Amino acid sequence: SEWLIFSTWWVGDSLSSLMQSVGASEKVFRLMDLSPSDQFLAQGLKLQRLMGRIEFVNVSFYYPSRPTVPVLKNVNLSVHPNEVIAIVGLSGSGKSTLVNLLLHLYEPTSGQILIDGFPLKDLDIKWLRERIGYVGQEPRLFRMDVSSNIRYGCTRDIKQEDVEWAAKQAYAHNFISSLPNGYKTIVDDDLLSGGQKQRIAIARAILRDPTILILDEATSALDAESEHYVKGVLRAVRNDLKSKRTVMVIAHRLSTIQAADRIVVMDGGQIVEMGDHWELLTKDGLYARLTKRQADAVA
Ligand code: ATP
Repeated sequence: SEWLIFSTWWVGDSLSSLMQSVGASEKVFRLMDLSPSDQFLAQGLKLQRLMGRIEFVNVSFYYPSRPTVPVLKNVNLSVHPNEVIAIVGLSGSGKSTLVNLLLHLYEPTSGQILIDGFPLKDLDIKWLRERIGYVGQEPRLFRMDVSSNIRYGCTRDIKQEDVEWAAKQAYAHNFISSLPNGYKTIVDDDLLSGGQKQRIAIARAILRDPTILILDEATSALDAESEHYVKGVLRAVRNDLKSKRTVMVIAHRLSTIQAADRIVVMDGGQIVEMGDHWELLTKDGLYARLTKRQADAVA
């Protein structure tokens, strides 16, 4: 599927530039973004630095294969750098499509997507993808040891302690340490649960230190244990100053994303509600109904 393409993108190195950005004002970098060193290559624009601002402006979309079915209708969404945003909604409401467009797998039928204020379609796609970490529902692991799986695709020199740091961030260190050969254990088909695979993929993404991190929560791993860890990962990416980044989570379980800065509720290709957990509960709309339904299902 399309998603497999993205699991091979782990080639970015924005760590040092991100470290440098800590403590500096955004304004400085906005100016740097516009400096003459921006390269207009045949493939597209590369910015000096990516801040991680994402804007959907009046985006509507039909899949080319089904031109009669509007999948997104006039979506307007502005995500700030370092914001943790969750996208929720019933199956088929358009959550994955939003991410497909953001990853530039498709072009909007109308409207546009801006990254740091620049049209997505003008940006160099390889450059951009190196700065976006995407963890899909069914991450792809390889028949090599756990450590190599976490390092996979990272071009810079990586020490084992960096690998373990990323694994700790992804709440994967403990279960990895208890494997027969720890980080040297070879990953084969039935070694890991779905939730564990996803945590290794999250560690892989975190090691690359992407400016924009997109997590598509696995529906196949909806056990209480992985819920606990996904929550933990969100807390970690949010609280660790060194790893400030824009995080977009497609959540199937509403309990995981209560701490998100903002929750976007989709229905029939439109954004119908937006706010934090408590605001949306108070509104007593679709989010409140979905939350109640999931709570009832668990009880
Ligand atoms: P889920 O929670 O089940 O993943 P979703 O909210 O992510 O659902 P999308 O996958 O974005 O929803 O799908 C939105 C609509 O677009 C659905 O009607 C779906 O059938 C349709 N759709 C999704 N992918 C394609 C595609 N590649 N070609 C044509 N239609 C598609």
